[in-house]
Amino acid sequence: MDRILNYLKDGTQHNNNQEAKKLKLDGTKYLLIDGELHIRSYVKPLTKCLRPEEAQEVMEDEQKGECGTHACSRSLVMRILHQEFFWPNIHKDAQAFVEKCSQCQYYADMHRQPVGYLKPINSSWPFIV
Ligand SMILES: [Zn+2]
Repeated sequence: MDRILNYLKDGTQHNNNQEAKKLKLDGTKYLLIDGELHIRSYVKPLTKCLRPEEAQEVMEDEQKGECGTHACSRSLVMRILHQEFFWPNIHKDAQAFVEKCSQCQYYADMHRQPVGYLKPINSSWPFIV
């Protein structure tokens, strides 16, 4: 994220031609507003990009805050995106965060029924509502 931020601030590019092309292509997805990095998307107009330490803080607030739910990682990501925050690898970081949280593991979905074969149910009166 810093390389994109530096590219947008100063226009500094990589010496490697292929890396410079990739940076230029990635830079088109981002926009710099008041020194803060925002990403463009089709769903929302602009989403603020967070640094790793800010991302950790947002995840902790979402999970353990007053309205924290200790939900699964996908739900955590959707809640963060709904607040218009984003960072690269948001799904991996949320998955790692949920795996470390003991309460998330405690309240996770569990199958309490034993594994067994499916049993067909026959209707005694077919085609009657
Ligand atoms: Zn949790």
